[in-house]
Amino acid sequence: MSDNNSSEELETWISNFCGLYGHDYFVEVAPEFIEDDFNLTGLSSIVPFYREALDMILDFEPDKPISVSDLPLVQHSAELLYGLIHSRFILTKQGLQQMVDKYDKKQFGVCPRVYCESMPFLPIGRHDQPGVETVRLYCPSCFDLYLPNSSRYLNIDGAFFGTTFPGLFIKIFSEIDQQIKLRNKKQYELKIFGFKINEESQFGSRMKWLRKLPKTEKEFEELNNCQYEIPLDDEEDIEDEDENIDDDQEEDDDDVEMK
Ligand SMILES: [Zn+2]
Repeated sequence: MSDNNSSEELETWISNFCGLYGHDYFVEVAPEFIEDDFNLTGLSSIVPFYREALDMILDFEPDKPISVSDLPLVQHSAELLYGLIHSRFILTKQGLQQMVDKYDKKQFGVCPRVYCESMPFLPIGRHDQPGVETVRLYCPSCFDLYLPNSSRYLNIDGAFFGTTFPGLFIKIFSEIDQQIKLRNKKQYELKIFGFKINEESQFGSRMKWLRKLPKTEKEFEELNNCQYEIPLDDEEDIEDEDENIDDDQEEDDDDVEMK
């Protein structure tokens, strides 16, 4: 409002969209990114009124005027299209840089878990298809997902941030990875009159190893093996057992059908 340049900037569709209440997780996608057709591959089949929505986002005059009845639909399509472009843009160098600025200012909030020591959140979607679930927040320290603490974010689609963003973000900005490693991975242990509860007890911390990270090379190797490999001997046993189970089940199924 103070000078002509800034008021012109404020008038674009993109800056207006990002300035709306509850839209502060979004960054402003560079118009050059949107103008490159390669970056929009596949979106025309997902978004209705695609051409009109694209013109609206880029503040282009539409080829033919949009009827009053279609205007809300085009506006909705423009928001959907922008969100889907946004999820791609934040994976680029420029987009990641804009997101790290927000992350550094803790604009996505911080993890409420005491042992995460106010670790800043990253927005994430559990699905890349729009309309499935709203945005969630990922804590790089405890590796868990949280709901935004304000209802203003509860209508923002998770697909507008996508499943890839936090993983790539942490990979690119390795100093964050270091920060995480420095954090204490301690898990709170309940005590009764000063005595620890046995780990095997129903209330014990039996699964605390889930939050632990491998430290030595041998531990890394073990983790990799248990993620991707099943020892050969055991595999054969399992197959044999499966066959037996299948046979039994088939007989059982027949019985059920007879009844
Ligand atoms: Zn956390």
